[in-house]
Formats: sequence, structure tokens, C-alpha cells
Amino acid sequence: MDFQLKDKTVLVTASSSGIGRAVAEAFVQESCNVAICARSKDQLIKTADEIKKSSGIEPLWCVCDINTTKDINATIDVVNKNFGHIDILVNNCGGPVAGIFENLNDEDWQSAFEQVLLSVVRFSRGILPMMKERRWGRIINITSVAVKQPLENLMLSNSLRNAVIGFAKTLSNEAGKFNVTVNNVAPGYTLTKRLYELSINKSKLTGESHEHTLAEMAKEVPLVRLARPDEIASAVVYLASEQAGYITGNTIQVDGGLYKGVY
Ligand code: NAD
Repeated sequence: MDFQLKDKTVLVTASSSGIGRAVAEAFVQESCNVAICARSKDQLIKTADEIKKSSGIEPLWCVCDINTTKDINATIDVVNKNFGHIDILVNNCGGPVAGIFENLNDEDWQSAFEQVLLSVVRFSRGILPMMKERRWGRIINITSVAVKQPLENLMLSNSLRNAVIGFAKTLSNEAGKFNVTVNNVAPGYTLTKRLYELSINKSKLTGESHEHTLAEMAKEVPLVRLARPDEIASAVVYLASEQAGYITGNTIQVDGGLYKGVY
């Protein structure tokens, strides 16, 4: 299927590895102009290089700590200077620190708020005006299965992801008349560095190996396996496509059935 994304400009945030990187690679496959960003210059150069080796196309990269307004605005400027405008914004972020209520202080909450919610607000604020002007745009937020089914030991993620859902639904109501859609993708257990680290944390508590922990996670999923990052990316690309032009204010769970509810 031709998703009609050729030559669209995409900015994927927090994208030097994991799900963000897979999303960037998927848009490169669709012949988009792709920009990636993250904090580590070395990691960005490595990722851009690897994407170039596998696809022949090098994404634009920008050093950006998505917890800071200054870096966010600088990133948007660099992408605009290189490509003229931004059609598709994929708001990804690193996962906030794990922990239960008693172990989290105000600094943890503030940092998670900046990372999970405020980064989405700030990138959207910088990019939405040009989408509205061009009467075409897609904003897609990467959240988590936790928006429907809270995950153990992830108080910050469980609390703040739903703020993103509320933000997206409200923004979709405001931006619809400009042909800008706003949606979310909610991944389940996906094999990335983040999941690997979470499994190591859990293993320290249970005394089991992290391989055992990952295998137990897979058993919770009706499809009895963890997701590959490219499986999350496919849903993002679909939501960005022309074919998905009538979908807005929605959240697609890509979780292998991990969420056990009906609605
Ligand atoms: P990851 O740790 O593999 O990758 C995170 C990316 O974010 C990296 O490129 C990292 O450099 C970047 N990053 C982190 N902090 C940053 C900052 N302040 N500024 C800029 N870049 C920053 O994580 P992932 O597994 O790909 O997860 C992506 C998102 O999806 C996270 O928010 C995670 O919580 C969520 N999620 C992941 C899973 C999973 O099983 N992996 C499940 C549900 C939700």
C-alpha cells in the first residue's frame, strides 16, 4: 500500500535508539525527510550512520535534551532550516524512572513531568502553527499500555501518560478544522534497552535472571512474545498516512493483547 508519505518531513523525538529509532527508520523507508534527536551526539552519529548504511539515506540529527525548551526550539529551527517545514511530529520520550510511590521525590515527579508531558506540549506548540498554515499535519505521541492498564513499579509513567492522552484528545478537537490529526500509540512490552533495564531492575528484586523476567513478561501477553520496535513503528506510519486522515483523538494499543479490558 502506498501511504502517500513521500517527501513529507518528519521529526521523531528521543530517537537514537529503541522505538523512536524504529519509527525514524520506518519513515525513511517511506521516502520521507527524517530528523532524529536525542541527548548524546555520539549515539546520534552512530544511529544516523547505521540508518544510512541500511537504507542509503542519512537522517538529519540534532542534539536535544527534550526536557529543555531551549533545545526543543533549537531542534525545530534546525529541521525547518534544512527541510522548510515539518509535516509529521512523533513525540517519543525516554521512560521516566521506575519506582513505587514511597520511593519517588518531587525532583523525580518534576523531571518525569517535563519529559513525558511538557516535551509533547513544547514540541507541539513550536510545530502546530506551521501545520495549521499548511492545512496538513500529524502529531503522534508514543505513550504506553499503562494508559489503560497501570504497570507495577512504574508510578510516574502510569500517572503522567494519561495526561498526554488528555492533551492529545483536547488538541485533536482544536486542530481538526486545520486538517491536523492528533493520535497516540500505546506500546506493550517491546524489546528495547528500556525493557532490558526494567527487567534487570525487577530481577534484582526477585532474584531471578533477567532472561527469566523477560520470558515471564512474554507469558502475560496473549501473543506470548514481546514486540519488536518496528511493530510499534508500523502503527505510527499508518496514523501518519493519507489513509488514516479521518482518525483523530484516538489511541492505538500495540500490545499483543496485553491490555485485558474490553474498551
Ligand atoms: P529506550 O530507552 O530504548 O529509548 C529511549 C530514547 O530516548 C533513546 O534514544 C534515548 O537516548 C532518548 N532519550 C531519553 N531521554 C532523553 C532526553 N531527555 N532527551 C532526548 N532524548 C532522550 O526506550 P524505548 O523502549 O524505545 O521506549 C520509548 C518510549 O516508549 C518510552 O517513553 C517508554 O517508556 C515507552 N514504552 C516502552 C515500552 C517498552 O516495552 N519498551 C512499553 C511501553 C512504553
